[in-house]
Amino acid sequence: MSDKLIVMERRVYIKTFGCQMNEHDSERMLALLEECGYHETVKWEEADLILVNTCTVREKPEQKAYSIVGRFQQIKKNNPDAIIGIAGCVAQQRGEELLARIPALDFVLGPGKIYKLPEILHEMHKGMRGVCTVGFENGCPTNLPIPHTQQLRAYVTIMQGCDNFCSYCIVPSVRGRERSRPSGEILAEIHALVQRGTKEVTLLGQNVNSYANNTPRELTFPQLLAKIDEIPGLERIRFTTSHPKDLTEEIIEAFGQLKHLCEHFHLPFQAGSNAVLERMNRGHTREEYLAKTKKLREAAPQISITADVMVGFPGEGEEDFLQTLKLMRQVEFDGLFSFKYSPRKGTRAAQWRDDCTSEVKQRRLEILQELQRGITLKKNKELEGTAKEVLVEGRSRNSPHTMKGRTRCNRIVNFPGGSELVGELVTVKITEGLQNSLRGGRCG
Ligand code: SF4
Repeated sequence: MSDKLIVMERRVYIKTFGCQMNEHDSERMLALLEECGYHETVKWEEADLILVNTCTVREKPEQKAYSIVGRFQQIKKNNPDAIIGIAGCVAQQRGEELLARIPALDFVLGPGKIYKLPEILHEMHKGMRGVCTVGFENGCPTNLPIPHTQQLRAYVTIMQGCDNFCSYCIVPSVRGRERSRPSGEILAEIHALVQRGTKEVTLLGQNVNSYANNTPRELTFPQLLAKIDEIPGLERIRFTTSHPKDLTEEIIEAFGQLKHLCEHFHLPFQAGSNAVLERMNRGHTREEYLAKTKKLREAAPQISITADVMVGFPGEGEEDFLQTLKLMRQVEFDGLFSFKYSPRKGTRAAQWRDDCTSEVKQRRLEILQELQRGITLKKNKELEGTAKEVLVEGRSRNSPHTMKGRTRCNRIVNFPGGSELVGELVTVKITEGLQNSLRGGRCG
């Protein structure tokens, strides 16, 4: 008999905070729950199970997760059998502490134990409460069902965890050390996705370009990319996130060689000052970062480069901040995710004095974002008059006669068209570069 619990007509509401890894984990949990007979609802008030998938990389999402669980617990007034669970990085970090802190909470599930969800619910339906399942296996969890949400564009986890221990980052504690999935399994999953109509895959991991670095007999990351590039029917390959120190010549060369590898590289730099980078334990200098991004643009002149950066790290002075602005002008990022530093308990940097005031952090963030807005708009305007391959995703939210798609460089393009184009690769001539998107018309 199957050890999976089949229940009828139960509804699950999932709230997700954080990065694409978390989004993907939520999709995988939903796929597991669907196998157990659950259906997703968008109304938490009518759910039988509420799952909050948390993020602890920054303070804000963690606090939001606590307050939202506080709101959701009202559900037990009308439905005392409703189950509330916390998953994700806060679950891994706080574990049992959460059960003590939030009396209405029924279970805690770490990101390395997602596959245990059906078992946990089996116990919950027998009346058990207060279950905490956290920790990591030696390898990436395997044989999880492919979420039905993975359609035209799909995510595929290729590795989990991180060995880098940047001094501000909690990820190695909450996601564990690096574990790479076997390449055979990754390729089989992508083949299956393509059979179901997927045209674009994004390979996911905390540090994808160190894929299999600690698994000598496995394919290297560029070799894996080359194998994926050969899969018939797959049109586009992307990956995120990468670390500058693990960006090798072979990976850079792949951009000039692999037909389906999209010209977009997300390469966090975090700070432009070598002194700050050293305190961050980033393992790269500004000069190395500049040299690698230059080589990327030589290998693929159209490549779009995006990054993460933070302001107000302990000890960041005005001169350090100016170095960050200078690096931004030198690289001319196509887009940038920028944040104010906030100490995360359990990291090395949290032991240091958070010596930039919130006013200073705010001012620096505003200056940096203003600079980036100007660069992004300039780069989008430079695309006016060019023809771009666009993978059509669906209708634009603003007009029923406008379709929305993405260029290989990951820019959103809106253009007149009908829904018969969804899933097609079309060529669009760009007529207007805007702050956050492009406008155009179909060629031919
Ligand atoms: S590379 Fe650094 S910032 Fe990225 S996940 Fe690892 S420790 Fe965190």
